Amino acid sequence: MATLFISDLHIDASRPAITEQFLDFLATEAARADALYILGDLFESWIGDDAPDADQTRAIAGLRKLTNDGVPCFVMHGNRDFLLGERFCALSGASLLPDPILLTLHGQAVIVMHGDALCTDDHSYQRLRATVRDAGWQRRFLALKLAQRRALADAARDGSRAHTAAAGHAITDVNEDSVATVLRRSGRQLLLHGHTHRPAVHEFRVDGRPCTRIVLGDWYDQGSVLRWDTGGFALESLTRAD
Ligand code: MN
Repeated sequence: MATLFISDLHIDASRPAITEQFLDFLATEAARADALYILGDLFESWIGDDAPDADQTRAIAGLRKLTNDGVPCFVMHGNRDFLLGERFCALSGASLLPDPILLTLHGQAVIVMHGDALCTDDHSYQRLRATVRDAGWQRRFLALKLAQRRALADAARDGSRAHTAAAGHAITDVNEDSVATVLRRSGRQLLLHGHTHRPAVHEFRVDGRPCTRIVLGDWYDQGSVLRWDTGGFALESLTRAD
């Protein structure tokens, strides 16, 4: 059986085909897996556990079915859904993972991240990340009324789109020195992350040691999954009928 990794689904009411494909994936391939790891940005936006919309509620119900059927599910915060909390876990049966986390899969040691922390050339994003990951900021945000939180999240999304469009391709990708630092400090030779929406398997060296960086893809036009079993890993896309 395989351990499955996905990320960057960006489930949102405006993209119902993604919700459908995710629910289908949960009911078929994921139902037969050892475990499912979702490495951030499952949802396009998450303004608190008290306010899931219809698509988010359906996704949570799909996760609940999976975990009830005995498949462990682990969720990491992304830069969109970093406010996923305890109530989300209680509803879905999923467990939240710290970022980064060290795992050993089928005998191979790997460091796993969402990936946004590696994009250190993007200074304004890293400043924003430090702000919104602060516990005090999060407490104040979650204390706001729903309508205020929604308005702020919409503004943040528009700002993020404009920033990504203006910043340029290289700025919004990972910084190679940051990747090397993470691998060096962790002692791992294998790094797995999402976030950049640039699915690939990169082979390179850090201090003479061969290293591999696996990047999961987003689910905008098709699914993206990393399957990992005793035979090794394979990064594949999941075609969509629409
Ligand atoms: Mn992301």
